[in-house]
Amino acid sequence: MMDSSGRTAVPSIKRLDEAVVNRIAAGEVIQRPASALKELLENSLDAGATSISVVVKEGGLKLIQISDNGHGISYEDLPILCERHTTSKINSYEDLQTITTLGFRGEALASMTFVAHLTVITMTEGQIHGYRVSYKDGAMEGEPRPCAAIKGTQIMVENLFYNVIARKKAFKNPSEEYSRILDVISRYAIQKIGVSFSCKKHGDSRTDIHTDSTSSRTDAIRAVYGPGVARELVSVTASDDDPSHSIFKMDGYISSANYSAKKTTMVLFINDRLVECSSLKKAIEVVYAAILPKASKPFLYISIAMPPEHVDINIHPTKREVSFLNQESLIDSIQKAIEAKLMQSNTTRTFYTQTLLSRSLGVPDEAEESMPVQTQGGRNLKAPVNKLVRTDPSNPAGRMLAFMQKSLAGHVGSGNGLVDTKPVEMPMEDTRKIMDLTKNEEFAAEVQEDQTGAHLQNNKVHKIAQMDASSLAGREALEHNISQANEDSRNELTTTRRLVRQRRNLKERAELTSIQELLATIDQETHSGLEDIVKHCTFIGMADERLCFVQHKTYLYLLDIVKLSKELLYQQVLRRFGHFNVIQLSNAASLYELLVIALDEEEQSGRWHESDGPKDQIAQAQMLQEYFNLSIDESANLCTLPLILDQYTPDMDRLPQFVLNLGNNVDWETEKECFDSVAAAIGEFYAIHPPLFPRPSVTSSEVYQPAKAAEISQVPRRLETDVNSEPVQESVPQSGADEPEVEDEFRLEAENAWAQREWTIQHVLFPAMKLFLKPPHHLANNGAAIQVARLENLYKIFERC
Ligand code: ADP
Ligand code: MG
Repeated sequence: MMDSSGRTAVPSIKRLDEAVVNRIAAGEVIQRPASALKELLENSLDAGATSISVVVKEGGLKLIQISDNGHGISYEDLPILCERHTTSKINSYEDLQTITTLGFRGEALASMTFVAHLTVITMTEGQIHGYRVSYKDGAMEGEPRPCAAIKGTQIMVENLFYNVIARKKAFKNPSEEYSRILDVISRYAIQKIGVSFSCKKHGDSRTDIHTDSTSSRTDAIRAVYGPGVARELVSVTASDDDPSHSIFKMDGYISSANYSAKKTTMVLFINDRLVECSSLKKAIEVVYAAILPKASKPFLYISIAMPPEHVDINIHPTKREVSFLNQESLIDSIQKAIEAKLMQSNTTRTFYTQTLLSRSLGVPDEAEESMPVQTQGGRNLKAPVNKLVRTDPSNPAGRMLAFMQKSLAGHVGSGNGLVDTKPVEMPMEDTRKIMDLTKNEEFAAEVQEDQTGAHLQNNKVHKIAQMDASSLAGREALEHNISQANEDSRNELTTTRRLVRQRRNLKERAELTSIQELLATIDQETHSGLEDIVKHCTFIGMADERLCFVQHKTYLYLLDIVKLSKELLYQQVLRRFGHFNVIQLSNAASLYELLVIALDEEEQSGRWHESDGPKDQIAQAQMLQEYFNLSIDESANLCTLPLILDQYTPDMDRLPQFVLNLGNNVDWETEKECFDSVAAAIGEFYAIHPPLFPRPSVTSSEVYQPAKAAEISQVPRRLETDVNSEPVQESVPQSGADEPEVEDEFRLEAENAWAQREWTIQHVLFPAMKLFLKPPHHLANNGAAIQVARLENLYKIFERC
């Protein structure tokens, strides 16, 4: 600053106007509508409320109204209620050590009056009327006026930041602010299960959150975060009572490996206080990263109790963060407890499809937050995809054994690999066991033989008969790989093997010659050269969406995954004819609606004509059920699909097309053609097609711009079928300002699908192809396998890959 003589003037220090001071301070405590709401909510809880309802207008910027049935505020306290540093909760600094209330600073209400208009209506027990009074800049505007009321307090905060223009402008998107408000209420709602919460937008009759005060913790989680989360929860506890480490008790609910969301939701309470702790969150994410595919995230509810004197709650103006003693040791114990729990619970996987269908049909999905997970097989990743090493041609998964845990020996033959006939839950156990399939060539051949004869067996040995051969083979092969397998598991293995043998000797069921003929044709047409390549190659990686590199001896080949997988699945359908395990659709899918979707798509692409319409031969339901486990109920709903490869479910987005195929392309007249064409239709459906949306890493980011994303979501796509970690946010209409997030989510989703697919190709498709695929001649000639290089000179480079 220069004065008139050109010299630099020393700025003089002035005392700020108190209103300015207060407004600055208010900005710290009330950072956004959700922080105001959090303070108000905590006040209601401190007042012993058992019922709290919230109404919000324009994301809280226009109005936040909270009503509780707590003890109310006495008439005498009203004049100082909104003065700074007035509180009923502590008297001295020392009280902070033993504080049990959420508030203590006496700043929240005061702060709000400096940046908004605040009105209080309150009535205490035993009064015949309540009082209503408004506040501005910390003081009452006029005397409290008597009014009709019920016991408790209602506070209205209007026009937040009306006098802080810059701040107000920062909140361009009310729906985002609203979702933050819902988020705070959701979190408290699952912590305070004795309190009923509700929240809605002003003018709406529908509440966006509603919980009852009697619900259990899991009920509360279900009510708030949806059944998709609730059904996958496992409870976890941990504690420590050694003062040299840490003193705490933790209990919580965490999602199992079946659940995956785009973002981690961690609801953390320390001594009943809603806080954040990024180091704990990271530590837990590390545990999940080992079992969930890349980019999949868990849901966590964790409540920790520790001596109040160990926690410093006064380190953040909004009390969002706390610091506590022995943080590292505590985090370590919790991490271990969660790890142990996940290991225990990680044995089953469930397949759901409901959302896909309701969404695809454009039916508004009321309970967006209750979206079930639409899983694909093989999500049970043990190591990140990019960490997998592949070099050993005799082992389809390269050196995955190095990632296996010793405890695996204990799993061998434990029966977990068995798939019951009608389970909704599919035991997935360790995907690791499938990775050694071809170690024991001899046995592999035996199983293969077994497979071809699978339809001969008698239903009496149901369980074994229902077992997927690949898991059988894997289990058997493990015997040879893990020499330290203990005696027990060895015995079980012997039993398993004996049962397999018995099964082959069982009395044959009347054979269907048509199937025999089709299988014989497969044998006759096998191209031995290509078979040898597939059997003895090493998977290197994907070259593009269809082609993958494999190494066979010193040659490098490109194999067409779509063609090969289609053929493999076609062949497996015939081999396992009549003996499939079941993929149960969580909600039956109406054939009619599927057809409408499929026909719509066809019509859009100009290929469909009225005359092609669905033929009614689909009504061959009984045959489909009996032989292919495609069960259709009386109301023409598809209820189950056959499980053809263990750990693999087809891309449900292709279900409509499949149903249309069954209707249009199956020859129902002659038995052999009929079976052949159904098998082909299943092969087409189950083939490992590229995901319907482009791979983010190779696609210009434009595709994931919101406009495009919206286009993509117009068409029924799996993009929308995954569970959302923050469903409450989803119920908020998306508007322009959310765009970067939409883009991110689509990108994550797409990345996930692509990583998942590559994993499935390597660890499910290849092992199965090595065992079962008999590639026909036409595959050798139509570009399904192309030799691209001789590796004599390149070999070393690939060895290093
Ligand atoms: P603090 O919660 O830190 O004490 P606040 O500014 O949030 O400070 O609230 C000031 C006081 O107002 C509280 O100590 C409490 O006595 C009273 N109060 C605020 N909200 C309520 C409510 N909903 N019911 C009863 N009393 C309330
Ligand atoms: Mg308070």
